[in-house]
Amino acid sequence: MIGSRRRRRPPIVVEIDVENDEYVPRVWGKSAWQGVPLAFATMEAARAALAAEGHHARFAWGLRLDPQIALGEGRPDYMLNQFDRQIADAQRHGDSFGPHPHWFRLAEGAWVEDASEAAWVAHCIDMSLATYRNAFGKTPGWIHFGESWMDQTCFNRALEEGIQLILTPEPGMKIDPEYLSGRQFRGRYPDYPSHAPAVLGKPPEIPAPRPPATDDHRAAHGRAGAHP
Ligand SMILES: [Zn+2]
Repeated sequence: MIGSRRRRRPPIVVEIDVENDEYVPRVWGKSAWQGVPLAFATMEAARAALAAEGHHARFAWGLRLDPQIALGEGRPDYMLNQFDRQIADAQRHGDSFGPHPHWFRLAEGAWVEDASEAAWVAHCIDMSLATYRNAFGKTPGWIHFGESWMDQTCFNRALEEGIQLILTPEPGMKIDPEYLSGRQFRGRYPDYPSHAPAVLGKPPEIPAPRPPATDDHRAAHGRAGAHP
């Protein structure tokens, strides 16, 4: 408003990834998603608290619509059906939604987050985008690639698909070396210097700040086992 004395505040994006509870799921079905209703309820309480302060908060929700969900639940759109009421409520508040594809595949019976093979990464994006478009009838305005991982091909693909915003770059995000080593992740982190020490097995020289709890469900889970 011209002449207003109100102090301008920078916009803040709060994005919550909606996914199954366990990094390496042992069960599927309703019991695998117990955190999701709690997340929606928590953010509704946050919305109400912000409204009491005069702020109209609209949140962003990242949706797991990828091959791991299809393999585990028998369909990639499982969560859209399971949580249709919460999603509809969020839509009524003006919230936005985008795909949150992870790269999990089964290798010798174990879940591996595999970002090492371009064709598999492309397949994960394909399924997530197709499922999103089928459900929402449009291209998402944004995408949040899983595991805090993306490469130039992912970036280019998002632009080619007409996606306007990529939320994956997370400056300061500290990836736990324990979390990356071994068989649970295959690939390299090409995009942020803060990831390099972990990938190379060297200790970080500068401690990275903790990500804000509101936009990272890993913090909400409070343990290293949750997905970024
Ligand atoms: Zn995730």
